[in-house]
Formats: sequence, C-alpha cells, structure tokens
Amino acid sequence: MNVADTERMCSLLRDSGMEAAEAVEQADLILINGCSVRDKAVHKAVSTLGTYQDFVTAGRKPLLGLGGCVGQMEKGTIFRRAPYLDFVFGPDAIDQIPEIVSRVQQGERHSVYADFDRRDDYSTETRALPGQAQAFVNIMKGCDKYCTYCIVPFTRGREKSRTISEVLDDLAKLVGQGVREVTLLGQNVNSFGKGNPNKLGLEPRALVGPIGRVGPEEGEETFPMLLRAMDADPRLAELKRIRFTSSHPLDFSDQLLECYAPPSEGGVARLAPHLHLPVQSGSDRVLSKMGRKHKIESYIAQMDRLKALNPDVGLGTDLIVGFPTETEEEFEETLKLLDRVQYDTVFAFAYSPRPGTRAAKLPDDVPDEVKNRRLNQLLAHQKLISERRYAERVGRRYEVLVEGSAKNDLMLREGESRGLRVWTGRTGCNRVVNFRAGAPRSLTGRFLEVEITDSSPIALTGNLLSDVSEGSSA
Ligand code: SF4
Repeated sequence: MNVADTERMCSLLRDSGMEAAEAVEQADLILINGCSVRDKAVHKAVSTLGTYQDFVTAGRKPLLGLGGCVGQMEKGTIFRRAPYLDFVFGPDAIDQIPEIVSRVQQGERHSVYADFDRRDDYSTETRALPGQAQAFVNIMKGCDKYCTYCIVPFTRGREKSRTISEVLDDLAKLVGQGVREVTLLGQNVNSFGKGNPNKLGLEPRALVGPIGRVGPEEGEETFPMLLRAMDADPRLAELKRIRFTSSHPLDFSDQLLECYAPPSEGGVARLAPHLHLPVQSGSDRVLSKMGRKHKIESYIAQMDRLKALNPDVGLGTDLIVGFPTETEEEFEETLKLLDRVQYDTVFAFAYSPRPGTRAAKLPDDVPDEVKNRRLNQLLAHQKLISERRYAERVGRRYEVLVEGSAKNDLMLREGESRGLRVWTGRTGCNRVVNFRAGAPRSLTGRFLEVEITDSSPIALTGNLLSDVSEGSSA
C-alpha cells in the first residue's frame, strides 16, 4: 500500500513540474512515507527523519515532509520531537500533495494535513509511469474489522470502495498504456463493494463465507463481481494477470474461491494462482483475543478447497508471535498450522503494542526474549517448508513477468558475464525466478517462459526458453 502511495505522490509531483532527484543530495523536497503498523516501522520513519535534521543541499535546506500512516498517527505532535520538519500529511491528503508542497514553498510551516476524506463516494485514478507493465490499483480503502492489535482503522478510516465501472475504466486506460499485471489493493479487498449499489446489474449472488452470509449487502457490488467483470471486459483483453492484497479470512467467500477454478469450470481466467490470506495465529484462543473472529478449522478448510481447485497455487500469510497471553502451546499450534497449510511465504513479526488499540490495554506479558526466540523458531521452521515447496518446482516451466535486473549477479560464473545479465521476475503463483539472458536489451516488463533448474528457500533459478509477450523465441 505504501509503495503504491509513494508512486502516486511521485506521479502527482511530476505532473506539477517536479522531477525525481537522482540523489538525495540534489533534492529540494524530501518526503518520508512511513508505515505505522508496527512499532519498529514507526521508529525507522522517525529516525530517518532525524538524519535530515541538519541536511543542506546546494547551500539550502530542502523542504521536509512526513506522510503515510505515521503522519496520520503523529499529526502535529511530531513537531515537538522534530521542529525542523516542515509539514505532515496522512494517506487521504496524497492527492493534494502538489498544492501542499506549493503552500510550503511559499512559506507555510508546521502544517498538518491529516483529515479523513469523509465523502461516501471513493474515487481515484491510478497513475502509471510510461513503460510500466505492472500497476497497483486501489479499489477500496480503510478497514471495518478493528482487529484488537491493529492501528489501520484509525489511520486509514472506515471502508469505502470505488465503483466497478470506475475501476474498469481506470484499468482500460492502464492496459492501453501497456500495463499487463495489476494488483488490486485495499486493506480488505474481499469486502469490496460495501455501499455501492449494483448499478451495472451484474449477476447478484449473496456471498457466503465460513460464518455464513458475509460481505456487502444484497443488491450491492462485490469483489467476485469485480473479478468477473474484469474477465468479461473486452477493453482488458491484453491484461494477463490479476492479483489482489490484502484480505481477511472471514470475507474470503465461497464465491471468491470459485474464481480460482480453471476457466473451463467457471474460474476467472486471469486471476493469478496466488493468495496471501493473513491468519495471524494458529490458536483459536489467541485469534479470539486478537478480535479476528475466524477459526483455524474453517481457515484450513478454505485453504484445502483452494488447493483442490488449483494444486500449484502459491500461498502466503502474515503471523504475529508473542501476542499478550500467548502460551508456548499456543505458539506451537502456529507451527502446526505452517505444517498443515504449507505456505510458500510467511511474513512473521513479534507483537508490539500500537497506542490507541484495544490490545495495547492488555498486559504485554510475553518477554521480548521469548518473542524473539519464537519468531526465530517460526522463521527457521518455515524456511524448511519453503525450501521443500520451491524444490518441488525444479524441472517445471513458468511464465515469468520480468521485474528487472537481479540485485546480485551470483548466477554468473567466472568468464560468463560478458553479454549476459541476471534478470528477476515472478511467476503467476508469485514465486521469484532468477535467470540469465543477454544484456543488450531490457527485458523488464516482458512475459518470458523459463525452465526451472534450481531452487533456494526464497527463489527459483532457471533458463530462458521463449518470449511469451511477443510469441518469438528469445
Ligand atoms: S483486517 Fe487487517 S487492516 Fe483491518 S483491522 Fe484487521 S489487521 Fe488491521
């Protein structure tokens, strides 16, 4: 979400006549887009801010702004700790960023732009840079779930969705610009549609999930409706992959599951075989204290049904260890869940209380050393699972969307580097693939077929077979 917000700020500022500086030493304006979901991330944002306290470029101090959820959370209080900061803004003020910068350039100081957008109709337009093959597309914002540990409903507000027709028009424009993969974004995309009447008259189906009827009211738009409308829209014929993030197990409806079926059985053809469904804990008691309202048994049943529809689906999740009162046995239930579901990727964190949340009032009674030990144990446990999951892919062929040059050239052996580069991309099931190919032309943004020859717990390695984007051999 923050990457998408940052891209949006860059695009809006570019339209207002600014250019991205090649190095921070050349910048007239520095924006820090901070995440508040964990204590550590907030500290990072604030300490990054501190590094610019006495920063001077070309004999003058650049303007300094703090944004994102950290700006929303801190508001004007941050000026007591960082009086050298010029302005603060929250996620709902991003579209005003050129005007805000202009006011600050004219002398406004210590301004705070952190009001929530109170309008019911959420409307926005995605900004893609020329040549971009992938785009993040916000389809809803905010969250109504209020998990006890989470600051998001307080920093991003209540749920609001764009209309399906607006999203389709936006996507048609992006596809016309060359975008071939989109990630539909929101805090809880699978509850998309709340409050939007089904004006297009799309097939109305009441959504049913693990607790019965879920999602928007009857007669309103829904997330499966959006996916099917995307599949049916001729303007999106060139779109190759649809991803989405993030989602809540309670709203993961049977109708959304059906979208993962093969197209011949009613599935959505371009929906990537990948799902990141945060579970947070393997213990029902801990989940209840987290206010998650879903049970492990029904979560596992959803995952089993998904794997039955598509055995190669890539699965990911988020986990918190050391939540208040979590016992050793309950932590072990989380390890058992990893064994049972067999995720490809896991994002795991030690619990840190977020001020203002209900969980922050609970005694933070799991000592830091226990939290850290559990976190390391969990990551080591998952590493073995990921290693096995990735190794199972050796010998297979995947269509890979190239994201750019790999950060390291370890795959290039001595004497091999001339004329070759290592490229990195992702499969539809979201596995990272590194492969060698000729260096003269950029492969970024192309869909290539790669045969997997090796694996590690975090990535696959392969040989380039063909250029799927153009149907020619490469
Ligand atoms: S569903 Fe996600 S964003 Fe919403 S409150 Fe829970 S953890 Fe936070």
